Amino acid sequence: MRAISPTATLGILGGGQLGRMLALEAKRMGYSVAVLDPTPNSPCGQIADQQIVAPYADLDAVRRLGSLSDVVTYEFENVDVRAVELMERAGVRIRPGSHALRITQHRLREKRFLTEQNIPVTPFAAVENAEDLAAAAERLGLPGVIKTASGGYDGKGQAVVRTRAEAEEAFAALRGRELIWERFVPFVHELGIICARSESGAMVTYPVTRNIHEENILAFSIAPADVPAPVAARAREIAERIAVGLDFVGTFCVEFFLLSNGELLVNEIAPRPHNSGHYTIDACTLSQFEAQLRAVCDLPLPPPRMTSSAVMVNILGDGTGDHLMGVPELLSDPAVALHLYGKRHAVARRKMGHFTLLREPSAATAALLETAREARTRLSWGTKVLV
Ligand code: AMP
Repeated sequence: MRAISPTATLGILGGGQLGRMLALEAKRMGYSVAVLDPTPNSPCGQIADQQIVAPYADLDAVRRLGSLSDVVTYEFENVDVRAVELMERAGVRIRPGSHALRITQHRLREKRFLTEQNIPVTPFAAVENAEDLAAAAERLGLPGVIKTASGGYDGKGQAVVRTRAEAEEAFAALRGRELIWERFVPFVHELGIICARSESGAMVTYPVTRNIHEENILAFSIAPADVPAPVAARAREIAERIAVGLDFVGTFCVEFFLLSNGELLVNEIAPRPHNSGHYTIDACTLSQFEAQLRAVCDLPLPPPRMTSSAVMVNILGDGTGDHLMGVPELLSDPAVALHLYGKRHAVARRKMGHFTLLREPSAATAALLETAREARTRLSWGTKVLV
């Protein structure tokens, strides 16, 4: 398929931070950017040439975005698959296509796809009614994790259940949604890998990261992960098989559980750039966002090289104020790269930005984590006092 030149317009469904960081790369490379997001002045809208302010379900607005754009992509997987199909039918070039989206936005379809590909996943069962719930508890054992099959993120729409009574309680709370029961996996680490594949089938993978969550939200990503080489190679091999199996075009992330015997289970696939890949902006020759842009525009995809070791640290709101304090102290370390997303209100647990701590490529990354934790303590939220 024809490559898209950088005088073209890139359309983005979704105006959050992932769209913003893609738009920043696209603008650097000379593209025009149009974004659709229901909130005016969205993080991506602040960078884009234009924002269509409309709900994602507004199919007229989706059509408008398609007609403005030479190529369209999306920054989150909860896009209504009908919007993507609508664009496909109208001949709009939208990548990744509806096939990859339909599978990856739904945990059950995703796990069935992976199982068909002989890729190991967490043992699971679909739960539609009380009998399924009892059968899942029996077959998979306790503890388990009950999750909505679609629509969840950052730990929303899921519950760890340790007893039958807790399982029934979680089932009642999530009733009416399609549900999945997963065995609770006693992983030693969570790992992630970013992979990009272009229209022409060129494919690149990034170094594996070790991801540390706090209250189900990513807190730190260590790159490269401090895991044995065969584990990293296996992660890469699985990501490449997924890319081909989904006929994926764009950037995606595979999240894994690493077990004590060295086995990797896929937890989930995100059909878009991922928080754990933000380190690529400052620590690699090609960021996950430029890779996404090149992939959907069918431009060359050179293998990314790490120029630094890195730890990425998320900056979350805590509800105590919208003013970020401690930035000068943080930036007193010249090896810190700060990214803030232009969100006005630092609501508790909201992703407001991140920073990446860089060190020479040979640095021991696990030790860097302690420095990163310490650096994070320099930041806090408050209300701005004018003097
Ligand atoms: P998810 O939305 O599936 O990525 O889950 C959010 C986080 O919950 C993961 O990053 C894990 O830390 C934890 N988690 C999810 N599923 C499981 C599981 N089956 N076993 C153990 N921990 C889990």
